[in-house]
Amino acid sequence: MTTRILSGMQPSGRLHLGNYMGALERWVAMQNEAEAFFFIADWHALSTNYEDTSVVSGFTEEMVIDWLACGLDPEQGTIFQQSRIPEHAVLHVLFSMFTPLPWLERNPTYKDKQANVTGKDLATYGFLGYPVLQAADILIYRPDQVPVGEDQQPHVELTREIARRFNHLYGEVFPIPASPVTVVPKLPGLDGRKMSKSYDNAIFLSDSPEQRWDKVRTMVTDTNRVRKTDPGDPQICPVYDLHQVFSDEATQNEVAEGCRTASIGCIDCKKRLNGFLNERFSPIFDKRQQIAADRKRVQQIIVTGSDKARITAKETLSMAYDAMGMPPLS
Ligand code: SF4
Repeated sequence: MTTRILSGMQPSGRLHLGNYMGALERWVAMQNEAEAFFFIADWHALSTNYEDTSVVSGFTEEMVIDWLACGLDPEQGTIFQQSRIPEHAVLHVLFSMFTPLPWLERNPTYKDKQANVTGKDLATYGFLGYPVLQAADILIYRPDQVPVGEDQQPHVELTREIARRFNHLYGEVFPIPASPVTVVPKLPGLDGRKMSKSYDNAIFLSDSPEQRWDKVRTMVTDTNRVRKTDPGDPQICPVYDLHQVFSDEATQNEVAEGCRTASIGCIDCKKRLNGFLNERFSPIFDKRQQIAADRKRVQQIIVTGSDKARITAKETLSMAYDAMGMPPLS
C-alpha cells in the first residue's frame, strides 16, 4: 500500500531559503515516493493575524507560486487550502470536546509565542486551541507520516495523543501517524540570527538575482575582521555557514583557508557564495515569474486540489461521526 504523507505551511509571509531547505526541498522529493497532501494552513495564519485578514489571503497565492516554482507538481501531490474544507472545523469541534486543557497549556510553542510576540494579543481561544485544529487537519487525512521540523514535534505528539484518546473512547478510526524529523541545516539570516521573516533578515525565493546579491553583499561577517589584511575565523561567520550549505566542498575549503590567512577578501568570498546561490535559486526565480503571470491557473490548482482533498476529509468525518454515534452526514 502507498504511504500517505501530509504537510502544510502557514501563509503568513514570503517564503525564504530557510523554508526551502527546511521543507520544500523535501516535499518535492516526497511527492514522487508517496501519496502526498500539501496544505495551505490559512486558518492557522489567522490565529496570529486575525486583525488584518488581508495579509493571509495575499500570501496564500504567493506561497503556492513559490511551491510550484520549487517543483511541487499538482499532478503528483494534492495541493489544497484548509479554509475550503469545512470538515476540518467540524472534526476540530469533536476533538475539542475531549482534549484536556493542560495538554494545550503546556505546549511549548504556546508559551514561547505568548512571551516573544509583541504587538499582538494572543490570549485568544483560537491561539490556545491551535494544536487541536492542527490535529484535525492532520488526522482527517489519516496519513502514515507527517514530516515536520523539530519545533513542530510537540504538536504532532499532541496529535497522536488526541488520536489515541479518540480511538480509546469511540473505537479505532485514526491511524497513529509517525513524524520523521526533517534535519534542517543551520541557516543563518543576514544578521547572523536564524533566518526568519520575523527578524527581517531573510533571502526570499521571490528575490531577484540583483536583490539577492544586494543582501549577500551587506551580510554580516566575522566582525573581528575589520580590514582585508586581518585574518578571520570562518567558524564564527554566517557567510561561511551559508557556504557550508550551498557551496561545493572545494570552495568551502578554499574560502576557509583564504579567510584564515587573509588571502581572500569578504566581498570575494561573498561573490563565490552568490554564484552557488544563483545556480540554485535563479532557475526557481525565473520559473516563479512564469507561474505568477497566470494567476488564474494558480487559483485553479488550489480549487481543484481542495475539491480532491475534500473527498477524503468527508470520508474520515463520516467514520468519526459513525464511531461517536452521531447522525449520518448528508
Ligand atoms: S572571508 Fe568569508 S568567511 Fe571570512 S569573514 Fe569574510 S565573509 Fe566570512
